[in-house]
Amino acid sequence: MKYFVLAAILAVVGLLFFGRGRSRKPPPPAGGAPVAPRQGPPAEMLACAHCGVHLPRADALFDAGGQPYCSPEHRVSGPR
Ligand SMILES: [Zn+2]
Repeated sequence: MKYFVLAAILAVVGLLFFGRGRSRKPPPPAGGAPVAPRQGPPAEMLACAHCGVHLPRADALFDAGGQPYCSPEHRVSGPR
């Protein structure tokens, strides 16, 4: 029974690891084209109003007052 539990834990960890690896690293596009060619100007960087970490505008979360945040938790916490 002990070994069954151990095997189950290993299976779950393995599935999580495998699933994360697959989702994080999409297969390269066919044709051998370079991944993500740069287009246009670099993304505008904003500083999180709570912790100050910089992040692209596209990844920022904004509160009602227009302040950028790096995460939902910091948006809830508000500016520091
Ligand atoms: Zn933050």
